[in-house]
Amino acid sequence: MLGKFSSGAINRATTEFSILTQMDSCLFCRIANHEVPSDILYEDDSIMAFRDISPQAPVHFLVIPKKHIDNIMEIEESDKELLGNMLFHAQKIAKTEGCEEKGARFVLNCKTDGGQTVNHLHLHVLGKRMLYWPPG
Ligand code: 5GP
Ligand code: ZN
Repeated sequence: MLGKFSSGAINRATTEFSILTQMDSCLFCRIANHEVPSDILYEDDSIMAFRDISPQAPVHFLVIPKKHIDNIMEIEESDKELLGNMLFHAQKIAKTEGCEEKGARFVLNCKTDGGQTVNHLHLHVLGKRMLYWPPG
């Protein structure tokens, strides 16, 4: 006990404080909260899709969960529906962006070796140009 507060209450407050601090400092949390403007293609209660600020192909957009998840290796069993929603809308938008006939690339970069620069899970969708394999 710390004065009249139980250790459970202190732990919960600490966790909530760190989530709030993270949302404040994370660029994609701020985009999801409409605090930073973006060219939004789709949003619902749990996800948002917006154009990449530095497109690497004629079509290049990102699909993010609105809740903060660092990367794909941090997802939990309870996030399966959320991930399905991201993939479902990613392919739907790719079609409306004109990628149905020739296809597109759907990419999740994860941590340093995966080339992740923004530590909030995001699915890249790139289309309307030929992309090669293996990546650099
Ligand atoms: P990563 O390298 O983490 O896989 O991808 C991060 C992506 O976010 C990059 O393609 C980068 O261009 C994009 N990005 C970074 N800052 C912003 C921003 O402020 N707005 C938008 N729309 N995209 C951003
Ligand atoms: Zn975030």
